Order: sequence, then structure tokens, then C-alpha cells
Amino acid sequence: MTKKINFAVVFIFIMFFCTITGETVAAATPDDVKLVINNEQVSSDVMPFIQNGRTLVPARAIFEALGGKVKWDQSNYTVAIEYDTTTVILKINNTVATVNGKKKTMDVPATIKNGRTMIPVRFVAEELGFGVGWINSTRTVTIISPEKPETSPEITGYVTEVSVEEGMSKKENTIVTVQMSEPIKAPEGYSTMMLNSPNRFVLDLKGFLVDSEVSDLTYDRKESPLTAVRAAAYNENTVRIVCDLKEAGSPAVNLSANGKTLRISFNTISTYFNPMDDGKLVVMLDPGHGESTSGKRSPDGSLREYEFNRAVANKMKNLLQAKGIEVILTVNDDSDPSLANRCERANNSDADIFVSIHANAFGNGQEWTSPNGWEIYHYPGSILSNQLAKAISNSNFPEIGIHNRGIKTANLYVIKNTYMPAVLIEHGFFTNAEEIKLLKSDEWREKVARYNVEGIVNFLNSYE
Ligand SMILES: [Zn+2]
Repeated sequence: MTKKINFAVVFIFIMFFCTITGETVAAATPDDVKLVINNEQVSSDVMPFIQNGRTLVPARAIFEALGGKVKWDQSNYTVAIEYDTTTVILKINNTVATVNGKKKTMDVPATIKNGRTMIPVRFVAEELGFGVGWINSTRTVTIISPEKPETSPEITGYVTEVSVEEGMSKKENTIVTVQMSEPIKAPEGYSTMMLNSPNRFVLDLKGFLVDSEVSDLTYDRKESPLTAVRAAAYNENTVRIVCDLKEAGSPAVNLSANGKTLRISFNTISTYFNPMDDGKLVVMLDPGHGESTSGKRSPDGSLREYEFNRAVANKMKNLLQAKGIEVILTVNDDSDPSLANRCERANNSDADIFVSIHANAFGNGQEWTSPNGWEIYHYPGSILSNQLAKAISNSNFPEIGIHNRGIKTANLYVIKNTYMPAVLIEHGFFTNAEEIKLLKSDEWREKVARYNVEGIVNFLNSYE
């Protein structure tokens, strides 16, 4: 009884002492040190104790609980504690430890108590990267595991919407828009590739998950370059957007300024063009300009361009109709409808193709100039229009007997703003003193009309 009271007095003294010195307690202490690992109290058959101001803990019970490996070497009387990439070796009753082979001196050595290897917890835990604390009021040693490197992948955000805006004409691309909840890091945040058999375009977004609201989209419109757009988790931190395509392409991918919207832009389809799908072939001819259009006449005033254009268009019309092909003219008189009006007429018709008839000019229009020859234009990137241009060029040359300036692309209004394959032919220069003779010749007009029609028919036939 007396002994117990004395014990309590000592204990109170120690508590007071601890309050002012923290863990560094000078005197021998009762075995009442608690151990809390990652906020959970850990018990062991041999309690931690304090010696020379250092808390010693049973090596195996504590460090195995922390996820380390503890190896006892009976012959050397050492204990090795491994955690992650660090190994601490302590020799019993020796204050020199080795940490990954380097010697370090401790205040107190490891010791054996009740058959357990007891080691100085702060030294070992800190060397292994753990955080060690001491709560004086509860006499508790706390050990916190080191911050582990992030093993789960970093997720930036979600793909919240995938939508498609279909280009309804060759001037409009079909745009797949991918909306994200957070900005993507460019350029490493996404990658693209084109795969074939079947053709598909793939966009991978790293660091993203796909929102459950996002669903697959399918397309059966014949002009669409897409058959489907699918979005799915490719792996734990990558969303893969797959665009199934009717033909291989190299779409442009643009990231919005805020980094949250990716736009994939596909050229409008060419492969599925079928001029006979409505049971008839319809050609829209567009004789350029009008009687009152300013300029557009030869330096000697002997030819106005509109007159040549209409003459050739009318000859083409007769030849096409003779082949059972329907012909519509954008203008049936000498007037000069606006370019918008010409396109509107074409787009509201059943026309399968659009051919604009012109003659060329160079210089100030007051003097004869040397530029000469024939050329044909189509809208850049229009595969069908390019094929039409090739067919017409092939049928004209070399028979028409003038210089071939070739197939060109340009952003010209009527070839851009018509929905069907469209070309614009410049049949020689009315500002060239030699070529104007041909342009005024009914025989030559008949010839070019015939070659143009031959090219058109070849083009249309290639789609039957
Ligand atoms: Zn013209």
C-alpha cells in the first residue's frame, strides 16, 4: 500500500517533468507509453518505454504494423528495419546504427526486453521517413506514415459532352466538339491518331474521366463523314474519343482559349456522292456576269465576257440535254444576278453539279496583254470538285489548242457557297489579242462546249 502511494508520487513528478521537457525524460519511467500509428492506437506484448529520454518500442510489432520489414540477425545481434528504399540496422547495445550503409550515432542503443528487440522509435522512424510526435499529456508517441507518392492517376476533370455539328455543304466542315469540365493541358494533355480498317480517328484525353451522361452518337446521313462518335474510358485516367469515318482524313483539332473545348474538324464527305440517287442527272450551268456588268470586255470592245459565257453555256445545255441530262441555268437572260442569288438557285435545285462558265482577263482592260490559256478552279479541299475539274480538264486537253494553266483552287464565291461539286472554268483571256479570236469564234465555242460536256458526262458516269 505504501509502495503504491510512493509510486503515484513518482508518477506525478514524472508527469510534471515531462510537461516541461517533452519526450526527453531523464528518469526511468513506468511502462505506460502509448503508441499511435496513423491515428490508431497500437498495442504490443512488450510496452514501449522511455530510456535516457528516448522512447524505445518493440521493433517487430511497430515497424511491421507500419508496413516495414524487420529482420533479426542472431549471429550479429543486429536488427534490420526496412521500409521503402531505406534500411536501418541497429546492433543491440550499440549506439552506432547504419542507414543504407552509412553510420549514424544514436543517443540510446537498441536493447532486448522480455525477449523483444526494443529500438529507439524516433531515430528509426525518422530515418525511414515517418513523422514522429510526442503528446505529453497522454504520454503518447505518434507515428505518421510518410506521404506516399500518388499512385492513383491524377484526374483533371470530366468529359461532360460530345456533340457533332454536321457540315451540310462542302463549305462546312463536320465538327465534333468535346467539352471538358476543366482545362486540358496542352499539348501533352491530348493526342490524336488515325487508324484504318475501319477508318477511325482517335483522340485521347489524359487525366480525364467520362461523364455518365455522355453517350455514343451515330450518323446515317449519306453526306456525313462520320458513322459514329464514341467516348469511353480507355484506361483509368484516359478518355478515348473515337470517330468512325467513311474515309481516311486528317481532321484539324483545335483547343479553345480556355482549354475546355476541343473541336475536331472533318472535311465534308466525298465518297458517298451519288448523282443518280434521285433517278436523274441534273447539271447547273452558271454563265458569269451580265450585259451591264462593268468591265468584263475586251480592250477593243469587241467582246463582252457575258456573251461568250452565255453562248458556251447554251451550247453545253443543248449537248447535255441531248444526252438525257437535265440542265438548269443560274440565269436565263442577259442580267447579272448576284453571286448569292446564283448559289441560292443552285442549292434549292436538284443540281448534282455546278459549272460556272467564264473567260479570263489581265491588266487594266485598256490594253492587250500577254497572259493566256485555260484554267479551272474548285474550292480547296473539295475532293469531288477536284474530280470534276480533272474530268473537264482531261477532256479539253490537248484538243482545245491553248495553253493549259491547270487545275487551281480558290475561295471563289460560287464554288464555295454551292452545296454540290462545283467548278469555275476560265476559257482563255479576252485581254489577249490571239485568244480573243478563239473566244469570238462560234466554232471554238462549240468545241469547248463539247469538251466540257464530255468531261461532265465522264465525271457523272464514274458515279453510276
Ligand atoms: Zn468572269
